[in-house]
Amino acid sequence: MSSITLQSLKNDEEQYLCKTYGRYPVAVKHGKGSRLWDFEGREYIDLLAGIAVTNLGHCHEEIANTIAEQAQKLIHVSNLFYQEEQIALAKKLLATAHFGKAFFCNSGAEANEGAIKLARRYHQRVKNTNAFEIITFSGCFHGRTLATVAATGQAKFQDGFAPMPQGFIQVPWGDMAALEKAVSPNTAAIMMEMVQGEGGIRPMTQEYADKLAAFCKEKGLLFIVDEVQAGLARTGKWWAFQHFGLQPDILTTAKGLANGLPMGAMMATNEVAQGFVAGSHATTFGGGALLSAVALKVLEIIERDKLAARAEELGNWAMNRFREVGKKLPGTIKEVRGMGLMIGIDLTFPGKEVWEALIQRGFILNLTQDTILRLLPALTIDKADIETFALALEEVLAQHAPK
Ligand SMILES: *Cc1c(COP(=O)(O)O)cnc(C)c1O
Repeated sequence: MSSITLQSLKNDEEQYLCKTYGRYPVAVKHGKGSRLWDFEGREYIDLLAGIAVTNLGHCHEEIANTIAEQAQKLIHVSNLFYQEEQIALAKKLLATAHFGKAFFCNSGAEANEGAIKLARRYHQRVKNTNAFEIITFSGCFHGRTLATVAATGQAKFQDGFAPMPQGFIQVPWGDMAALEKAVSPNTAAIMMEMVQGEGGIRPMTQEYADKLAAFCKEKGLLFIVDEVQAGLARTGKWWAFQHFGLQPDILTTAKGLANGLPMGAMMATNEVAQGFVAGSHATTFGGGALLSAVALKVLEIIERDKLAARAEELGNWAMNRFREVGKKLPGTIKEVRGMGLMIGIDLTFPGKEVWEALIQRGFILNLTQDTILRLLPALTIDKADIETFALALEEVLAQHAPK
């Protein structure tokens, strides 16, 4: 029998790891599909998929095989060399969104760093302006590097890290007058999520999307869309922006791209991509042969198994199912919102007890912004698992909602 327990891991972590995480009271031993098992053999239904990362489910057989096969052929040689895997991936990825060029990196924050650097360099070296400022929106989340923390603009992520890098301005989400006021000849771009994830699953409206696109055109600003979380079929299309009929100048993605291996990508139009020349930007690991082979397989599976359409249909069903729960228990659920399988259940009260009770019952999900239960399940999750969760949610809400 294994001597590892949740408590032994807790103790060791306290001694050996930087204290950067408030962890869930679960130690995961192994997983398959939308199931996880802990060290005591308890089974969980995973509604979070590693925060929108293992979008095809845990230990997907074809992904495991691709990793094994590519690992025997070539894992890494560095970006000093031409690599067929990276180019094959770029072709496939660009075709999903009609962008001209891709740059591969290791994470969402790095994809956004690349986008910020490209936006500045395009203005400064192609357009010959001095523009450098990026405007972001309240409630956004763009990452944890210094620049992306500055872009994110939330005090809790910046605390103790002063001074912040310059060149980021934040305006209230939805406030066109504030945006108008924030723009100056220094402005290079606006950067945003089409559905705010960390900020509480807040989808863009068509009206706001139209206004922002028109505004960027009028002012000569680049439109950067961060789909690190929302991208890759989760919202019902390859990319969330495709629901709104607009075309960003730069798109970033990461989380689900290699189903759990660290992989990010930035895509740009051919026009904007002129901002980079050989030596402008680089990374050691980004787009390595193993990572690229796996990401290509992920894209092929999403397409072959029509997972975007599945996410849309199942997501709509799930959101309606959770709204039914809310109707049965008036005063507990303020709103169920989202797009596809990116779902927020916004409670009328702080949700920590409900969240803990759901974890105790074997459901893995996230609580964000105090009141919002966030679901980002694998795109392959069974409807029956969501139904099981809906029944548990009803019982837990009945028990734990303030009377
Ligand atoms: C998670 C996330 C990031 C940061 O990605 P990392 O891989 O953790 O650096 C950036 N933007 C959005 C919208 C995210 O959800």
